[in-house]
Amino acid sequence: MRTLEARNGAKSPLGTIGTRVAIREAVKPVLALIFLAASLIGCAHTPANTSAAMAQWSHEQGGEINDCRVDRLRAVGATWSERTNIPLRFHVLNTTKVVAYSWPTGDVYCSAGLLNVATDVELKAAIAHELGHMLTDAKPGSPQAFGGNGSLTAEENADCCALALMKGANIPMDSLVTLLTKVSQASHSEQLRAGIQARIRLIRQAQ
Ligand SMILES: [Zn+2]
Repeated sequence: MRTLEARNGAKSPLGTIGTRVAIREAVKPVLALIFLAASLIGCAHTPANTSAAMAQWSHEQGGEINDCRVDRLRAVGATWSERTNIPLRFHVLNTTKVVAYSWPTGDVYCSAGLLNVATDVELKAAIAHELGHMLTDAKPGSPQAFGGNGSLTAEENADCCALALMKGANIPMDSLVTLLTKVSQASHSEQLRAGIQARIRLIRQAQ
């Protein structure tokens, strides 16, 4: 499972030299990858064992809220379903944690805490990052997270994919930075905050 925050343990394949060039060059093939891989995501039928795992997992996260916040998330996320042709499904988790997750099934979970602090543009950035996980390192039967409970490399790859999507939709790339800053400020994990700062440095270099 991965989250929006990132751990600081893994070394980035981009390295520290020539990172700006590496990210800019990486964005180009990522766009082609997005539309190639999009057809493989969001199948109409989610395996029963995956549905059961998702239900158990969301229960463990505090359960789901079904009110106008889901409508807001759907409205904001519709941009990405339309642009990628991936049929995303949106859920709101009943927790004050500032976090978002996604499953390779096309299910995106944002916390009530995230919805409280994020602007609509920042939510689009969060969903773009989750799409990045689906397209670059999705593992069947497990969720990914915006903050990053996986490797820093996986988070940077998802960010790179998100930046490509955002660029194509004329969404300011800085919205990913401002959202990550809010996630970092809400976290008590030094390791997670350090990982986020590393990602923000890379995103700023790509701008
Ligand atoms: Zn992530």
